[in-house]
Amino acid sequence: MKKSANVVIIGGGITGCATAYELAVRGVKDIVVIEKQYLSSGATGRCGAGVRQQWGTETNAILARDSVKRFEGMNEELEYDRDIEFKQGGYLMVSYTQNEWNQYKKNVAIQHSLGIPTKMITPQEALEIVPHLNIKGLIGATFCQSDGHANPFHVVDAYYKAASRLGVKFETYTSVTGITREKGKVTSVQTSKGDIAASMVINACGYAAGTICKMVGFELPLYPQRHQALVTEPVEPCQGPMVISLHHRLYCQQTPHGSFIMGVGDPNEPKDFNINSSWEFLEDVARQATTVLPLLKNLRVVRQWSGLYDMSPDANPILDEVPDAKGMWVAAGFSGHGFMVAPQTAVLLAQKILGQNCFMPIERFGLERFSGGELLLESAVV
Ligand code: FAD
Repeated sequence: MKKSANVVIIGGGITGCATAYELAVRGVKDIVVIEKQYLSSGATGRCGAGVRQQWGTETNAILARDSVKRFEGMNEELEYDRDIEFKQGGYLMVSYTQNEWNQYKKNVAIQHSLGIPTKMITPQEALEIVPHLNIKGLIGATFCQSDGHANPFHVVDAYYKAASRLGVKFETYTSVTGITREKGKVTSVQTSKGDIAASMVINACGYAAGTICKMVGFELPLYPQRHQALVTEPVEPCQGPMVISLHHRLYCQQTPHGSFIMGVGDPNEPKDFNINSSWEFLEDVARQATTVLPLLKNLRVVRQWSGLYDMSPDANPILDEVPDAKGMWVAAGFSGHGFMVAPQTAVLLAQKILGQNCFMPIERFGLERFSGGELLLESAVV
């Protein structure tokens, strides 16, 4: 492994790989990405890979809206030799409670102010989009056709190949074990394969970003939380959009290959690093999915797995330099939606680091928001 680099990026998920590319394409030389397992082995390779613009905070909506544009042109932009499989089948967000529907109206007003073409539709219109939807008790739904999903392994592979062509080095199966700081500045990174001197370190470790920050004595306001998912046997295409019911904590999509991928969030999940799969999840997701989409009741489950959300206190990303550790940046706290915003998160961070004009105010993702004032909570997290 190299003994020194201009920039060390820790974490080979979508955030680390996209950031490596965005820095390299802006002319930064000598970048090394360090990943303790294989690329996409963290949350990225375990995610639903849904891409939606229907958010309740302006910040998330802008990042997602602009990232959709990037996903649309990603095969060409990154000169990818395969296909990131970005399919824009839309997202149908269904609402069975009045409180939720009131919140959706506020969210859609924000989305419209940003040019996101979400429609508010009746239960009958929702049924026309997803004919097997249970509309008993449904108050309404919101639908955005340009939302969709992509293949997370291919997206990371596309960034990896494009960054590699620009000279970025990737060190997989290499763990970061320590970070040295001198006079308030980072100077080097210790790894399982030796030390590497660097004055800039980007912590893109997702659920483990807090552990990395502790290496310079900083308590990042972030916690890991297990989320489980499953995939079914493939069947004939019957569901175009991703269906989300926040009330049922459910997301459910049919992939281009015909299988359904779905998950439910569990509000009682402890804040820890456990990623074991559980029977309770299978029961829970089966109950919620067949309530919202009864047709799915005879589908056979092929596999279940879990991954970790990197939760921040307001469910918004943290993109900032660590206090008292100049040169060390954090890109984490994505709270279950880091895949869909990664293309533009990486641009924003690269612009800030290089002193360029940021396409949106990065201060909104700063650490200071946690020490004063009221947090603007994201309401649309599954
Ligand atoms: P990660 O992909 O977690 O990457 C961090 C990397 O850091 C890992 O590969 C890890 O091995 C590495 N690492 C950790 N410690 C060290 C160390 N000491 N040294 C070196 N490397 C280290 N998001 C969406 O946008 N849409 C979805 O539909 C969606 N569904 C999800 C479903 C599930 C079940 C889960 C778990 C997550 C989901 N997410 C979704 C969230 C999304 O997966 C994450 O927000 C996103 O992948 C974060 O990417 P990342 O690169 O920041 O982190």
